[in-house]
This record gives sequence, C-alpha cells and structure tokens, in this order.
Amino acid sequence: MPRAQETVLEIDLRALEHNYRYLRSKSKPTTKFLAVVKAFAYGSDSIRIAQELENLEVDYLAVAYVKEGVQLRNAGIKTPIFVLHPQAANFKELIDFDLEPSIYSFRTLKGFLQKASDQGRTNYPVHLKFNTGLNRLGFKVQDIDSILSCLNGRGELKIASVFSHLAASDDLNEADFTQKQIELFEKIATGIDGKLTYSLFKHLLNTSGIINYPEAQYDMVRSGIGLYGFGNEARIDSELKPIATLKTVISQIHTIAPDETVGYNRAFRSEKQRVTATLPLGHADGIGRQYGNGKTFVTVNGKKAPIIGNVCMDMMMIDITDINCKEGDEIIIFGEEPTAEEFATTANTISYELLTGISQRVNRVFIKE
Ligand SMILES: *Cc1c(COP(=O)(O)O)cnc(C)c1O
Repeated sequence: MPRAQETVLEIDLRALEHNYRYLRSKSKPTTKFLAVVKAFAYGSDSIRIAQELENLEVDYLAVAYVKEGVQLRNAGIKTPIFVLHPQAANFKELIDFDLEPSIYSFRTLKGFLQKASDQGRTNYPVHLKFNTGLNRLGFKVQDIDSILSCLNGRGELKIASVFSHLAASDDLNEADFTQKQIELFEKIATGIDGKLTYSLFKHLLNTSGIINYPEAQYDMVRSGIGLYGFGNEARIDSELKPIATLKTVISQIHTIAPDETVGYNRAFRSEKQRVTATLPLGHADGIGRQYGNGKTFVTVNGKKAPIIGNVCMDMMMIDITDINCKEGDEIIIFGEEPTAEEFATTANTISYELLTGISQRVNRVFIKE
C-alpha cells in the first residue's frame, strides 16, 4: 500500500468485494441483495462504491435521502435506487430521477400519490414500510385496510415491496423481541400479499439480521455496515475486512519540557519531558473532541500513541515519547490497528458514527489491485 503524504481515507475495493461475497453467501442465491450506500456509503465514497456494487450486480442500492440518489443517477448509476427516508419536499425530484420511495405514513402516501398523479405516472414502484417495534418510521398493522383503500382504483402507484426494520438484530439478548418483530412482519406482509392482484416482494433483515436470523430473509436482504467490514460482533468482524483506513502524516515534532502544556486551554500538562507530534487532521475531518485527552490511540510505526490534549479543528497532537519516528512519517488513525470499531469504542460510540463522520475534506484514495 502506498505511503500517505497527507490525510487520506484509503478505500480497499477488494475488501468491499470480499465482504459482499461473504454476506451474499449467508442467504440463498435467489434472495435479492440491497446494498445500503447512504451517508456517502458509510463515509467512504458513494459514487465509487455504488459503481463497484453495480459491477458486482447487486439488485438494489439504498440511500436515505433523495439528494443522495440524485447524485448517484448523475454519476450514471442504473441500478434501482431505494430511498429509505424521502421527504415530501423532494418527491418531484425523486420521480424525475427514477428513485423508489419508502412510503411510511399516510402523509407520505397521499403526498406521493398526488405527485405521481401530477407527473402523469402509472405503476410507479413504492415500498411500504411498517413499524414492527423500532418505533422510528412506518405504518402500523392496523393501517393495512386504509392503505389499500387509498390505493384502490389508483393506477399511479404499485406496491413493489413491503418491509420493516429490526431494532436489535445484533443483540441476542433481545432474541425474543426480534422473534416478535419477525412474526408481526410475517402477518403484515402476508396480509397485504393476499389482498393484491399482483405480486410484491418482502424484506426485513439488515447486516446483523442476515447473520443471526437467516430464516427471515424473505425475498431480499439489506446490508450496509457489513459491506464496509463490520458485523457488530467479533465472530463476524473476523470474517469481514474493513474497507477504510484513515491515514495521515506527522507535520511537526516538538520536545516538551516538564511543566509545559500542549494545545488549547492547556489541556495536556506534562510532568516530565515528552516528545509530541502534530497531525494534520482534527474535528473538522471527523475526529471529534471526545477522542482527545488520552482516551484514544493511533498507530505510529506499529506503536500506540495516545491523542493528547484537546483535538483542534484541523489538527491534533499525539505523544510519541519513546517511539522512533520523524516528521513526514505515516500515522494510522484507524484501519487494521486500531480498527474503526476499537477506535470508536474508546469514546463510547460505534463504528457507524465514526465512519460516517469522516468529512468530505479528506481525500479518498481507492485500492483495487
Ligand atoms: C441503514 C439501514 C440498513 C442497513 O443497516 P446495517 O446495520 O448497516 O446493515 C437497512 N435497512 C434500513 C431500513 C436502514 O435504514
């Protein structure tokens, strides 16, 4: 791998393919695969990742918001794109760019029906989302008849699929709850299926669901974090490969005399002589202040160096006393060691948050061969 000359997020597309094939192998070959590429493909790069996934022939891509889907269409992506949380303000654009909305409430159903009608569309594919216990978005089981009567005799929309989302697929202590969600989804999905004159498909599982509840895979699975190399448990993490490595370089080295301080508010105080290195990334790049003040380590020439003092907007300082290194040397913020999951855990958060927070200021570099 090339040595970093500045802060870069290195994205290993071979790892993406490995993760895709691993996750694919966990469900039946006939089960469709939706790849979630919302939030810049979990902070990596939505366009390049979507292109790779399109080449791997995923059945669907999913984004959270219309704007993300428009960006993929403008980049030439042809795969069907599912919009998980469209806003009524963007329904016209959604239709113009051939995106497929999740419809999760009567407000979105009626609003979208009106917009499809205004645009003269027929049989426009929509996906009905049901709340089975997450209590975030979705219709209730009791809404089925009203939804169907809203659509009755209206040719504008076609229910392409029915879906729901699990609240705790990664937590086996909640297996009873998850089982109840699965049973409720079964009731909802078969209920609707039985009342339509055409066929639809059903889907429920995210990454941890694919691993822990393969019996509930239905016609499609939806995976995000797994594609990027994390499985929410050590047993699965060991099968997956993190695709992203955040690297930077040492900008400057200082020797700090006893009683000197480092950084804003003099937050780091040294009782003895130390050597520090200043790195060219900070909270504006996605490494928040919660990682400072000795909580979190980065890797310098294979050795652990703590982030000291307050993380600044564009810089942070690390303690390299006793580490053999020089200005210009490469630093691993996260990647293989520490992993993004380990790094995130030091500040009581999760890999999802750390990864999606890496800002667009950081250059993305892709590794394929
Ligand atoms: C984000 C999201 C997913 C992907 O979840 P992972 O845990 O990253 O696999 C799947 N389904 C829905 C509805 C989502 O919002």
